[in-house]
Amino acid sequence: MRIAIGGISVENSNFSPVPTTLPDFTVLRGDELLVGERYLGGVAQSHGVEARPDLTPGGVHVEFAPTLFARALPGGPLAADTYGALKTELLERLAAAGPVDGVYLDLHGAMYVDGMEDAEADLAAAVRGVVGPLPIIATSMDLHGNISAAYVREIDLLTAYRTAPHRDALETRQRAVRLLVRAIQEGLRPRIALVPIPVLLSGESTRTDVEPGQSLWASLAEVDAVPGVLDASLFVGFAWVDEPRAHAAAVVSGTDQAVIEHEARKLAQAYWDARHAFKFGVPAGSTDECIAWALRDNENGVFISDSGDNTTAGGVGDLPLVLERLLAHRIPSAVVGGLTDAEAVAACWQAGVGDAVETTVGGKLDTTHGQPLPVRGQVLALFDGDADKGRQAVLQVGAVKVVLTERRTAFMRIADFTQVGVDPLAHKIVVVKLGYLFPDLLRVAPKAYMALSPGAADQALTRLPYRRIARPMFPLDGEFTWQAA
Ligand SMILES: [Zn+2]
Repeated sequence: MRIAIGGISVENSNFSPVPTTLPDFTVLRGDELLVGERYLGGVAQSHGVEARPDLTPGGVHVEFAPTLFARALPGGPLAADTYGALKTELLERLAAAGPVDGVYLDLHGAMYVDGMEDAEADLAAAVRGVVGPLPIIATSMDLHGNISAAYVREIDLLTAYRTAPHRDALETRQRAVRLLVRAIQEGLRPRIALVPIPVLLSGESTRTDVEPGQSLWASLAEVDAVPGVLDASLFVGFAWVDEPRAHAAAVVSGTDQAVIEHEARKLAQAYWDARHAFKFGVPAGSTDECIAWALRDNENGVFISDSGDNTTAGGVGDLPLVLERLLAHRIPSAVVGGLTDAEAVAACWQAGVGDAVETTVGGKLDTTHGQPLPVRGQVLALFDGDADKGRQAVLQVGAVKVVLTERRTAFMRIADFTQVGVDPLAHKIVVVKLGYLFPDLLRVAPKAYMALSPGAADQALTRLPYRRIARPMFPLDGEFTWQAA
């Protein structure tokens, strides 16, 4: 059995003015795919060697043909020439791999290519064009992906994460490959039922570890077990792209058309019926409100998410708006984790540790939502040991430590702070450019608030200038009736 592996995994906000281009990607080619945790030790043992036994029911020999896998931090629209180059190389490698029984496409699902709608459908159709109609194409995706009928038509199997914040990325990839191997082995030709749901909510309001998300996503395992079903998925969708496919969706793969349609309708109806119950998992308010709440708390280390500039959802990561409010409120101590500004970093490196620096921070990339903030501060530390972040500098501005980074980044772990010598919990307020806190921060944060700040990942969806999404859409258009069909 031969299975090709490849994919382009990226999440693009088209409300960001900063394009995503080739240097933003980590690209794995050929056997590079099979080194490291993403596939080896998870999905494929190695090219041309036995796959892991637990992925191969019946002990069948699976040979994996790795092609190209490209992944980038969520960002602005993907430049068309970058997408073209990645797609072309993936297809060339796929063609060179020769005949395959199946293809495993490793995607995110919210790719937005400048000037093109439904990029995943374009990629899937191109892959189908290369391999022909017979091989089974299985894909795994983030539940924050946007699913269209055109995309589903090109593939045979689809599964998605069942946790947000995500804890099951590897498990999801394994499930996709296991289903693919099973389909090939048993000679199945799976079908996919898709029911679009006219609900568009942010990931922050649809977590799977609180109700109603917890029960909804937990119910997928029961659907998997229904005879005729192979896999059930529930997609929140990705709200920061203005495309007709931006909405929630229920997707069921299986072998019995009537059964998968019935189960997909049931899931879609359950999601629709729960729509009013989705809430942010933490108190959310304006930046000023969040600062006021934090100052009233007894604890130190109160986290505030600068959610409009959330770099894990396409925010640019250079907006200094929350920093400006912290300084205006004269808070006793705070740290801002991750503000991207290569020029300010260079100024700090030029000055050296201990020296004073007068510069502007942020607002140079996301000129749609912010502008540079003039500051005067002292360089506390310089660090150059994190490839994702580039050079970094800790600048003390008043009572606020600002961790400046050369490259766009997300502070998702405590280690992101400690590696530059900052103990976040020793400060009254800790600002991160996230929506919900990632597990490592959630574990230690005594309190967390979400600031509904402006930016390319604005959580106040009613503020976004949508023109292309399907209407009516809950909650943007208020109340309307709908039945899963
Ligand atoms: Zn996601």
